Amino acid sequence: MRKIISGLSAEENTDLLEQQRQERYMEAAREKTAALAARLHRTPTCHVTNFGCQMNAKDAEKLLGILLSAGFEETQDEAADFLIYNTCTVRDNADQRVFGRLGRVSHYRKNNPDMKIALCGCMMQEDLNVEKVLKSYPFVDLIFGTHNLFRFPEYLAQVLDSGERIVDIWKKTDRIVESLPSERKYSFKSGVNITFGCDNFCSYCIVPYVRGRERSRKPEEILGEIRALSESGVKEIMLLGQNVNSYGRGLDEPCTFAELIDRAAKIDGIRRIRFMTPHPKDFSDELIEVIKRNENIARHVHLPLQSGSTQILKQMNRKYTKEQYLALAEKIRTRLPDAAITTDIIVGFPGETDRDVDDTIDVIRRVHFDNAYTFIYSKRTGTPAARMEDPATEEEKKDRFSRVLKCVQQSAKERALLLQGKVMTGLVEEVNTQSPGKVTARLSDNMIVHIDGDESMIGKFYPIRLDICCGFYYFGETAGEEIV
Ligand code: SF4
Repeated sequence: MRKIISGLSAEENTDLLEQQRQERYMEAAREKTAALAARLHRTPTCHVTNFGCQMNAKDAEKLLGILLSAGFEETQDEAADFLIYNTCTVRDNADQRVFGRLGRVSHYRKNNPDMKIALCGCMMQEDLNVEKVLKSYPFVDLIFGTHNLFRFPEYLAQVLDSGERIVDIWKKTDRIVESLPSERKYSFKSGVNITFGCDNFCSYCIVPYVRGRERSRKPEEILGEIRALSESGVKEIMLLGQNVNSYGRGLDEPCTFAELIDRAAKIDGIRRIRFMTPHPKDFSDELIEVIKRNENIARHVHLPLQSGSTQILKQMNRKYTKEQYLALAEKIRTRLPDAAITTDIIVGFPGETDRDVDDTIDVIRRVHFDNAYTFIYSKRTGTPAARMEDPATEEEKKDRFSRVLKCVQQSAKERALLLQGKVMTGLVEEVNTQSPGKVTARLSDNMIVHIDGDESMIGKFYPIRLDICCGFYYFGETAGEEIV
């Protein structure tokens, strides 16, 4: 096994020089890929499997972009010449899915001795996972973490060259190297990272430990990236961060999230802006006003609740009470009446009782959420919650989860029904693979609607009548020409 020591001299220690350094490794990776192609008598293939959140999806676009730029060709088959799993560790079942997949990968490797296998992402920031991979999956060629993804060109060149295993995990970084190749999944929409890491330390969450402390990109860099995306045909952007609305801390020139999104909304050609994920404690009045006065900021606020019980929120270190959350949601409903409010809810947090769950259900009813992602608490080793007493049985947790889910589904259905018969603007995103002859569009409030159409409509806005409500989504029809 070979371990890279990632030290740079002091004068090399700038993001720009690091970028130039990686560009040189890109050249080397191209040469190695060309040599592999000559040996195989075909273009080598690559596949990136992504697990987890929008930020991971954005990282997966960079990994794929680097592989394509090096000369690989994408395949949908995991039995590729270069396979990467970009892992997630937010819930235990995400870890298990990766280990399950690795079991299968060993067979691909036996059939293709030239195959290279890489693991990266949040799971690799945890020592126990890396040890398990090193011990049980000796065919994995490359392991790196979240802080040094920008060094992938370097690892790629070296792994193609030497064939030796490379393991390089950084515990932290203050680096932001964002201009390496990226292969966007959609030509008309794109995520844009604005912050990395998180300082909130919610007691159940592993993210601050695997993604590090919060760092904000400079506003000029973000706005420059959005301008370039707009010039390349992107119409919708999503500002990404673990806690987007705490954006700006530590910047030399102060800039709040509200100021940033206000400036982004004014960039020519950007017709819709989304953001993910805000934290209720940082949701300012200024932000609500900026959303209100910019029609191209999506009418969708995802406001993670996690629990409706003030006692449990305290244990979770969420830094708001039930009453504060309700007051904020009320303010958003009043100031932005056309916005959907969606949320995340955890059921089964250590110490949660039936009364705490009643509080959660009370909040669901009072906010009248448009949708919610509901999860059963998953213990993450190394977090404070993992050490808390948890007297509830699995049976009790499942019952409580069913109660919450039923209430969420009822709320979502009632909210969706309010739109029936309305004509709203939808951006067509993809061909509907389940229903031939249909495409899927997304409304500003994040509602999905399936309409008759074909590939030529992808990336275009249409007025769409919402005919048949199916709970979380609609069947509809275009009610006019493309909106240009
Ligand atoms: S805000 Fe809380 S839940 Fe979200 S990433 Fe940070 S620590 Fe995790």
